[in-house]
Amino acid sequence: MRTKSLTQAFEHAAEIMLEADGRAAGLTGAGISVASGIPAFRGSQGLWDKYDPFEYAEINNFKKQPEKVWEMLGEMLAVVEKAHPNRAHKALAELEGKGLLRTLITQNVDGLHQAAGSLEVIEFHGATRDLCCLSCDWRWPDFKLIAVKNLPPHCQQCGAVLKPDVVFFGEPIPERALLEATAAAEKAKVMLVIGTSANVHPAADMPILTKRSGGKVIEINLELTPLSGSVADLTILGPADQLLPEIIAACERLVGNE
Ligand SMILES: [Zn+2]
Repeated sequence: MRTKSLTQAFEHAAEIMLEADGRAAGLTGAGISVASGIPAFRGSQGLWDKYDPFEYAEINNFKKQPEKVWEMLGEMLAVVEKAHPNRAHKALAELEGKGLLRTLITQNVDGLHQAAGSLEVIEFHGATRDLCCLSCDWRWPDFKLIAVKNLPPHCQQCGAVLKPDVVFFGEPIPERALLEATAAAEKAKVMLVIGTSANVHPAADMPILTKRSGGKVIEINLELTPLSGSVADLTILGPADQLLPEIIAACERLVGNE
């Protein structure tokens, strides 16, 4: 059942998006990819029932026991390789195509925003598609599990075990991603925060930067977060793959009425 307040929320979101006149950024987290079959770290389902991410996605554990960590990585890459973008990813690509969204900052490593057609994507925590060698910096772009007979994959230059180019616990955010994301957040007149619990820093600081620079924050998530009722000007609770297309439809109605 559609409540009147939900319709009003979509219209309010659309007004804010149109007012920003393209000066909009997005911040996405694991919640947006759950509908694509990729389980979130937090919450108990699938992969993370079996492997504690704080143990298996920790950089010193990878350095000590890369073979063990690759047991998890092999399963994770298999999940990511067969995942497809859902309606939320496609809606964000559509917003960019319409000139209503400039930059997307994602905490996800699954590459689904690009697969959906988004062009300006800052991968805050890297991406699983590329492997890198911690010993000699050799890289394997667009790696697919089918490319190797056995895991783990090894560096073709020095023989060390390769690591997906994602930020493990205990590693810093890549400097370039942090600088670009910070600039995008400060310039944005509105930031759409989608599917993130907003408690992993520094990613969670991005909407705060937008707010401090005089911009607005729209939050779309299944549950309330530390941003709700404080940093967020508008919080809409629900699944992003259902809510984002509604916001686009509301934008279209508003533009049509002008
Ligand atoms: Zn190497």
